[in-house]
Amino acid sequence: MLAESEIHRVLVVAAHPDDADFGAAGTIALLGDRGVEVTYLIVTDGDAGGNERTLDNSGMAELRKAEQTAAAKIVGVTDLRFLGYSDGTVVPSLELRRDISRVIRQVRPDLVITHHPDRNYQFVGPSHPDHRAVGGSALDAVYPDARNPYAFPELIRDEGLEAWKVREVWLMGGSTPNHWVDITASVDRKVAALQSHVSQVSHIEGFADFVKARFASWAEQAGLGEGRYAEGFQVVPTA
Ligand SMILES: [Zn+2]
Repeated sequence: MLAESEIHRVLVVAAHPDDADFGAAGTIALLGDRGVEVTYLIVTDGDAGGNERTLDNSGMAELRKAEQTAAAKIVGVTDLRFLGYSDGTVVPSLELRRDISRVIRQVRPDLVITHHPDRNYQFVGPSHPDHRAVGGSALDAVYPDARNPYAFPELIRDEGLEAWKVREVWLMGGSTPNHWVDITASVDRKVAALQSHVSQVSHIEGFADFVKARFASWAEQAGLGEGRYAEGFQVVPTA
């Protein structure tokens, strides 16, 4: 696994506005505290999210972009990129692999954080089809596409983007986490970031307590003890 001192730039590849906050905002806040540069790449515009149908889809997409931008700021992230794929329709594709490879080559991250591409049979929430498609295509972009100068030659030819090797990937939402980050120092920022997604969470009663209870139970599972909070990831070496 990469040492903390080897992580200077991180790219978070998420399907929807709010996924990075559910899966990793506590960890992202701590990375930012250490001076790590974090970029968000949000694949869909989130236009099929939400509880009450009070906006049309394009209104929802604009709102969710603004909510994600506000949430990111709370955990220290100001570099956000949106690919604008249609929410609920993402499939693993060469087009998506190229679009993620482009941003990997632009950002040149040491670490990528993305969705687990496999279905979680213990808990259905993290296994939205968009999540699995984005996680799978992000892993394909990490290996082999972004590092292979012969893959998507137009990226070098037209945009001057040289090949880049990401050394490690952390997967969110899988059933087999093997790395726990103690987010006790940043859990309040995580909750605040999540609450910035007003269109998605404001109708949920006791939302902050629900979030804290879930991440406290993960801390217990990780053996961190009571009164602690943790986010879990499956670490994939890709060097
Ligand atoms: Zn999502």
